[in-house]
Amino acid sequence: MSRFWSPFVKDLVPYVPGEQPKLTRLVKLNTNENPYGPSPKALAAMQAELNDNLRLYPDPNGERLKQAVADYYGVNVAQVFVGNGSDEVLAHAFHGLFQHGRPLLFPDITYSFYPVYCGLYGIEPDIVPLDETFQIRPEDYRRPNGGIIFPNPNAPTGCLLPLELIEQILQANPDSVVLVDEAYVDFGGDTAIALVDRYPNLLVTQTLSKSRSLAGLRVGIAVGHPDLIEALERIKNSFNSYPLDRVAIAGAAAAFEDREYFAGTCQAVIDSRRQLVSELDALGFTTLPSTANFIFTRHPGHDAARLVAALREQGVIVRHFKLPRIEQFLRITIGTPEQNAALVAALGALV
Ligand code: PMP
Repeated sequence: MSRFWSPFVKDLVPYVPGEQPKLTRLVKLNTNENPYGPSPKALAAMQAELNDNLRLYPDPNGERLKQAVADYYGVNVAQVFVGNGSDEVLAHAFHGLFQHGRPLLFPDITYSFYPVYCGLYGIEPDIVPLDETFQIRPEDYRRPNGGIIFPNPNAPTGCLLPLELIEQILQANPDSVVLVDEAYVDFGGDTAIALVDRYPNLLVTQTLSKSRSLAGLRVGIAVGHPDLIEALERIKNSFNSYPLDRVAIAGAAAAFEDREYFAGTCQAVIDSRRQLVSELDALGFTTLPSTANFIFTRHPGHDAARLVAALREQGVIVRHFKLPRIEQFLRITIGTPEQNAALVAALGALV
């Protein structure tokens, strides 16, 4: 802290991302990256931008990407926003769509960036406990609020809330923006984008970091009523007119256009998840039902922190949260079949 700091900076508690170790020989199953590479068509589109166009500023509106998203989901371009990672898209929603001065509702076990943005934007959180099966209960989202946010499937549990229950939350809160953060929806969930034409208070965000394997590129999107998108555009244009560079716009658009590669790699992750869960079952683990590219699992006879440390010694990195109710769980990203086999072999020697 120095005398040059603005006073509020002293109290900021920033988000701490999962570890990015330098060693490449590790089996890295800790930050929910995709074990398969991005679409070859996306790589080619990015290479073409690198070769020909970096001298020029990008399109500030990212029209090419917006059009690819609109085509993919069958919505209008005016219903699409694009940003530098979904974290940035979420930040703009906290800034400009949640009502400051009224509480923001979100689950007690959820993405830990939400409380950080509450701190940054001066929004009071009203934290809603998950039920005893780690599910979101729509009837708990009926109290006064200035907005609602939750991931679907939730993180780090991987549990999915069906669209009918999301509709109950939307109907009970017609005057609040309900933001459904679909970072992991492509691994078996149904997207709430199907509901945006019926609910002007619904904003759906997605990322290209997981199912489209472009975490290093930093691209996120939002889909919702044009009025919500207009608010995000105003915030964006008051902050950074060019959040997406030319490489990102070209690569992300091509990733949406390459449906076949996307479907194949998502299915490979889903198949590996099913196999991994059954192998962990055989070792005595209990795993929450997951529709994400990670699982949340615990062993009744073994302390999670000790398992994480022992796995690490064998070069396998998974995530552990020292938080109430979940400190005995491991969050494990679904890897390639070979990576998953290495994990199971290491755990088999420990339990
Ligand atoms: N939402 C959730 C629930 C996440 O887990 C993540 C990834 N950490 C994000 C959003 C952000 O993804 P990105 O900024 O890479 O698009």
